[in-house]
Amino acid sequence: MHRTYFTTTSAVGTPDVSAAVALPSGKATLPTGLFINNKFVPAVGGETFQTVNPSTEEVICAVSSAQAADVDLAVAAARQAFKTTWGKHCPGTERGKLMFKLADLMEEQAQVLAEVEALDNGKPVKIARDFDIGDSVACLRYYAGWADKIHGQTIETNDLQKLAYTKHEPIGVCGQIIPWNYPIQMWAWKVAPALACGCTIVMKPSELTPLTALMLCELIVQAGFPPGVINCVPGIGSVAGHALTYHLDVDKVAFTGSTLTGRKIMEAAAKSNLKKVTLELGGKSPNLVFESADLDQAANWCLLGITYNMGQDCTAGSRVYVQDTIYDTFLQLLIKKFEQVKVGDPYDEKTFNGPLVSKGQFEKVLGFIDEGKKAGAKVITGGGRQGTKGYFVKPTIFANVTPNMRIVKEEIFGPVLSLASFKTEEEAISLANATTYGLGAGLHSNDAKQCMRVSGALEAGTVWVNQYNLLNNNVPFGGFKQSGIGRELGQYALDNYTAVKAVHFNYGEELEWPPV
Ligand code: NDP
Repeated sequence: MHRTYFTTTSAVGTPDVSAAVALPSGKATLPTGLFINNKFVPAVGGETFQTVNPSTEEVICAVSSAQAADVDLAVAAARQAFKTTWGKHCPGTERGKLMFKLADLMEEQAQVLAEVEALDNGKPVKIARDFDIGDSVACLRYYAGWADKIHGQTIETNDLQKLAYTKHEPIGVCGQIIPWNYPIQMWAWKVAPALACGCTIVMKPSELTPLTALMLCELIVQAGFPPGVINCVPGIGSVAGHALTYHLDVDKVAFTGSTLTGRKIMEAAAKSNLKKVTLELGGKSPNLVFESADLDQAANWCLLGITYNMGQDCTAGSRVYVQDTIYDTFLQLLIKKFEQVKVGDPYDEKTFNGPLVSKGQFEKVLGFIDEGKKAGAKVITGGGRQGTKGYFVKPTIFANVTPNMRIVKEEIFGPVLSLASFKTEEEAISLANATTYGLGAGLHSNDAKQCMRVSGALEAGTVWVNQYNLLNNNVPFGGFKQSGIGRELGQYALDNYTAVKAVHFNYGEELEWPPV
């Protein structure tokens, strides 16, 4: 029998927590409040912060800025929903239906979401629409399919009159802290498995890119999710993020961002209530090109590896090592391809690189470029800002690099590649693994045995063979070494949001007392 579990609440967004913006497809009114219990509300104390268009350096609008008191309200809403309408109170099939509905709504709104992403983040509209949003819709559908397939096991014990079984129960209220580089995709990677498992959510988007996360809240209401299941508290990391990670009624925190903030989150969990933590952190990923590789293809993948999303990518293939016998040929190919990257207006459908996300990120990347030059590395192409307005950076290749240079060791998070050569396979592996990170790694070779050997030796959570930077919603993703804890995506992500309960069931044995 079909049963309706929830009714849709009325439209959200009040005049004081919304802003009108001009988009290529017309004027839009965007929500700018905190989203708690399916309503947009101002911060209790009225605090706001400004979000800036990185193409023009102009303020887009003010957004409510959650403080500790607001986080308390959002966590209370999430707890109430967990105890009443979600969690164990809503069958998986119903959770899945709502998630499918949300995916459909997101797909319908892909163009306007992409335009707002281009406005707030600088991401080219075509990439936002076709990849970020396309993959996020697919991610929601993938986990919607899981929602009624989260089973435990029946386990035989040594006793014939007893039975043991496990249940995979939702962990509870989850704090989810996401970064600015993939605002919609990181939202989907966090929200989708948590909803499928029956958890409720308090989401904190980055202060640099809060707008699309808030637009998605409108879709949450339209899809019919009960109040409190998903809440959103835009705000400053050291205030709203800090409050969430130290909160005593948050059962789990999932985080994507820098390794530095990841450490703070583990510390917060340890010092508060030992909440469960998953971390997806930084990288300094190597891309190895062997002499047997299809060089044109390898150059395409290496280019994609460092210029996709303007290099603001945790798996950016920022260190390319090329076998010495093909180094010169490969370098020429790569230069040609780098110089064809179209950098400019993110609203232009042909743009591949928009601006970096913020003044801070722009200055950080330019600082690394200056430092590389001073340290003796040679700029082969690019090497600075593009234009005079907006945070645009030319895709840059450095050669003559040495392993101790900061541009080779540290995550730059911009379109800056360092290129060096190697002689042997052993040397390539050793260079690739000489990092504290272990998120991604790539290798390009037409020798199948070499591909097997090298992929086995690389210390990274994801290894790409003859490709780079492509992920699938059904394949796990996460880091070795200091690149993180836990896995997102695929069936593996369900472990992050469930607690395993073992039930020992006695249906016959009588206990004689005293037992001896
Ligand atoms: P952060 O790791 O500081 O930011 C990621 C998220 O964490 C944001 O929502 C941020 O909020 C929040 N946050 C910040 N401080 C705290 C805190 N004390 N407690 C809880 N949450 C917090 O990265 P940045 O934006 O500062 O970028 C710095 C560098 O980090 C980049 O240059 C890049 O190297 C790396 N990075 C890596 C990413 C990845 O995908 N692995 C993604 C983004 C950055 P708020 O935005 O308000 O600061």
